[in-house]
Amino acid sequence: MSITVVGASLAGLSTVRALRAEGYDGGIAVVGEERHLPYDRPPLSKDFLKGTLDADALALGDPAEYDDLDVRWLLGERAVRLDPADRSVTLASGRRLHTDGVVVATGASPRALPGSDGLAGVHTLRTLDDARALRDELALGGRLVVIGAGFIGAEVASTARGLGLDVTVVEALDVPLERQLGRTMGRVCSSLHTDHGVRLLTGTGVAGLTGDGRVTGVRLTDGRELPADIVVVGVGVRPATDWLAGSGVQADDGVVCDAGCATSVPGVVAVGDVARCPHPFTGRYARIEHWSNATEQATAAARTLLTGVSASVPRPAPYFWSDQYQVRIQLAGHVAPGAVPEVVDGDVDSRCFTAVYRRENTPVAVLSLNQTKLFNRLRRTLVPAAAPAAV
Ligand code: FAD
Repeated sequence: MSITVVGASLAGLSTVRALRAEGYDGGIAVVGEERHLPYDRPPLSKDFLKGTLDADALALGDPAEYDDLDVRWLLGERAVRLDPADRSVTLASGRRLHTDGVVVATGASPRALPGSDGLAGVHTLRTLDDARALRDELALGGRLVVIGAGFIGAEVASTARGLGLDVTVVEALDVPLERQLGRTMGRVCSSLHTDHGVRLLTGTGVAGLTGDGRVTGVRLTDGRELPADIVVVGVGVRPATDWLAGSGVQADDGVVCDAGCATSVPGVVAVGDVARCPHPFTGRYARIEHWSNATEQATAAARTLLTGVSASVPRPAPYFWSDQYQVRIQLAGHVAPGAVPEVVDGDVDSRCFTAVYRRENTPVAVLSLNQTKLFNRLRRTLVPAAAPAAV
């Protein structure tokens, strides 16, 4: 038996580790579009962007581990087609890999702003190369406009402010992070920007960018124009599923899988940001774009691939963290509609507190700002929402 993992990042590497841990000793090829061995993305918007962590420190594995895993790395190679009938993966170079099992671990890529193509000074942030380019520009200082106040946009704003830049954040929603945290806590977390001298403009969209060759400003839909030397676009991602077109693998805002990471095609599993799976805590099919999810799904994916039967592996509450303005934000569980947060320790004004979200008296999520110990205790008390509905 041979296995091809497409995507040489956290989910791909975690699945390779899980395959070996399950006792699989056959061949594994890992195809990665980037030239780099797997590295950690969270620091790209934090310490790496700040310049206090170098690229070597981002490595997810070390040479001794890679020797043990015994993997054939095909880096700088993009998969362009999956042909289940022929059991092959075709690469952009024309090379064809024959394989018995396929792990789809291709993650997602940032959405671009229409009209920003080729305009210098406009950045998205997903890869090490993106982070290097942005870090070099931030080091020159100036006026930064961040479009989108989601977690990545917020972290970039925080890092840039720490470097002394003049920062404005533009967000189309009235309340940033409302979808992830609800209105009350979305307001609390986004007030970190204004606490630190960052202008936060909410409830306004972006009409376009100005500049000839290099960006000079951002035009808002309400008519205002913001001068800018650097623009970071953080308006979400698109799951990387194009290469699966025509393969029979069902893709609809990600690769649709069951809880065991099995896709619509036998012998093909999906893991990490690209996988849209049911989760007991969300009560629906969703892509969970968190670091911990990419590692937790790996065991199920490996077992499903090796046994041919969708594996049932218990899932903890979804978890993510974000570091902004020296505040560690942590959320576990799912802030379902109607879930009401109650501060159970600390106080919101000090930006050091823990809130439990309850729905019909059931704790479904916990949020902490700078209270890791209590957070870790309470996250174990959360209760799954409901059985997932249809796709
Ligand atoms: P990815 O890491 O996106 O990897 C997918 C890989 O597949 C990429 O290398 C890509 O080039 C490759 N690929 C795509 N298409 C092809 C193809 N056709 N052929 C070959 N290769 C292909 N999560 C948290 O919980 N907390 C945080 O603080 C946090 N911070 C983050 C900060 C940044 C800047 C970013 C970008 C993410 C952050 N995350 C954070 C999210 C976390 O890093 C992701 O959930 C995780 O990287 C997902 O891993 P993945 O392997 O599924 O996808």
